[in-house]
Amino acid sequence: MRILLVEDEKKIASFIEKGLIEQHYSVDVAYDGDRGLYLAEINPYDLIILDIMLPGKDGFAICQELRKQNNDVPILMLTARDDVRDKIYGLDSGADDYLTKPFAFGEFLARVRVLLRRQRASKTTTLKVADLELDQLTHTVTRAGKKIELTSTEYALLEYLMIHAEQVVTRTMISEHVWDQDFDSYSNVINVYVNYVRKKIDAGFPQKLIHSVRGRGYMIKE
Ligand code: CA
Repeated sequence: MRILLVEDEKKIASFIEKGLIEQHYSVDVAYDGDRGLYLAEINPYDLIILDIMLPGKDGFAICQELRKQNNDVPILMLTARDDVRDKIYGLDSGADDYLTKPFAFGEFLARVRVLLRRQRASKTTTLKVADLELDQLTHTVTRAGKKIELTSTEYALLEYLMIHAEQVVTRTMISEHVWDQDFDSYSNVINVYVNYVRKKIDAGFPQKLIHSVRGRGYMIKE
């Protein structure tokens, strides 16, 4: 899942970015409002974390502009001010949720998960395909009850495939939602990682779950 963080205070930005990367999210960071809006317009993020007071466009203006463009990406607003008028204005600008700084990181992550789940029909934090299970809280993956160790990128790739189980996931979708802004989408890194995941998930099992869809991409299904 790919997240855009728009936050001008470098220390806070770096703290949030590191925390999100530890949770296997891929993160792009913008330190001013204009860059934030630009990135939000060119990349299909799964979530935007938006500070209100920013150099350039402020968080309210970015939120309003994205909604005007019919961009329905979930938006979590952050502010240093605990002012109920700010909260109302933020939510009326089209934000989905609102958190006052300083916040407990555990609560912040829980809100991130809620907003990411809202896009899906199922609200559970365990994704299942046949006997393969992925727990989004503990980041554990098991097949037939046996634990499978994955690297951060492998986990993010498998999670994305499982969220879109029984649908074709194209290489473009993977490059846009599993990797960050610095990813070179012309490389064959995606094939390489799909093969890593496939080896860990499917090797030794008669039923293969990860399928290549010729000329289109990949699909995970029973
Ligand atoms: Ca700020």
